[in-house]
Amino acid sequence: MDSPAPHHRRILWAISEAGPLSRTEISEMAGVSKAAVTGAVKELIAQGLLHETDSIRGAGRPATLIAFSSGSCLFAGLSLRPDRSRLVLCDAVGDIMGTADLPSMRTPESIPPLLDSAIKKLARDTGFDPDKVMGVGISVSGVVNAEQDTCVRSTLMGWENVPLGKMAADYLGLPVHIENDANALAMREKLFGAASEAASFALIDIDDGIGGAVFIGRNLFRGFAGGAGEVAHITVTPGGIPCQCGKRGCLDTISSLRAMKLAAGRANLKETDFDALEAAAAQGDPAAVEILHAAGDALGSIVAQIVQMLNPERVLIRLSAERCNGLFAAVMQQTVDANVLPQMRNRTRIDVAKTPFGAHAAGAASIATHRFLLAPPSQERTS
Ligand SMILES: [Zn+2]
Repeated sequence: MDSPAPHHRRILWAISEAGPLSRTEISEMAGVSKAAVTGAVKELIAQGLLHETDSIRGAGRPATLIAFSSGSCLFAGLSLRPDRSRLVLCDAVGDIMGTADLPSMRTPESIPPLLDSAIKKLARDTGFDPDKVMGVGISVSGVVNAEQDTCVRSTLMGWENVPLGKMAADYLGLPVHIENDANALAMREKLFGAASEAASFALIDIDDGIGGAVFIGRNLFRGFAGGAGEVAHITVTPGGIPCQCGKRGCLDTISSLRAMKLAAGRANLKETDFDALEAAAAQGDPAAVEILHAAGDALGSIVAQIVQMLNPERVLIRLSAERCNGLFAAVMQQTVDANVLPQMRNRTRIDVAKTPFGAHAAGAASIATHRFLLAPPSQERTS
């Protein structure tokens, strides 16, 4: 199946934004004439992408609604980490159809054949024809040139200028897009998650390392050279702990899960992971309180700067841990409140939640979905 024509994309985008719609609603939302909608919907139904639902709603004249067909097309997402990789298959509305854990794939040349066989196997294992896979997204930590689908630099993977998108696309015979992992997570939140209604939002991904992404309007803001959102390496304690990036005192050295674990080790705590620290702090352990307080305060000072600078509607903090609303989150919120102008206080909703299972890989799949189907009309190329 080729990439849809522009007005087909407008129609698919409208349904992806609003859910099942009548032909009249599609026409209004997509800015396409009713006659063109009728013709395009007929073609998209024939291709198996859309179907007519039985649902008829509204007080006025009943209308049959048009919705995505479940499993009509699939998008694969691969999340690459130095120690592990995860693959998911999602449908056009972001539902996860299947997940597979794959071994570490640090050598770029090894990825295309492994990915090709893993996608085919996962499709078959979940009862789908591998030919239904329309595109692939790959997420990686570091700076990515999304236009060229190249990983410019990933300290964690030890990569520089790896044209992984083209390498994989040539092997798989499918569009393959590379994205920074926090950007991928944010894209999923925008298309299918908590930020779907937000006009602007920032996302901070707290894992072993920290990632950040910013959406302004419908657009992921990448900055001049693709480095926008790199909050991990904002200096919060000048001359502080050495960071993997070569600087000192970056946010990553205080508020990442790895940093908190190291601090807990230095304090001779028996249990050093984040959830154990929150549990110990709730019992009044002074060392655990100090570590979580420092981490929450440093993160809060950066979130305050984001709020003050961008005035986003929402800030989503995604935490790869269970205890998301303990001392760490409370101190972070207090620091934000203390460091933004009073009139901006409580205007931006900040929520801290657990990063769902498979979220990074599903985020990568949403990049493929976005590039294939859902790019809003404003982003379409006119040539
Ligand atoms: Zn750093």
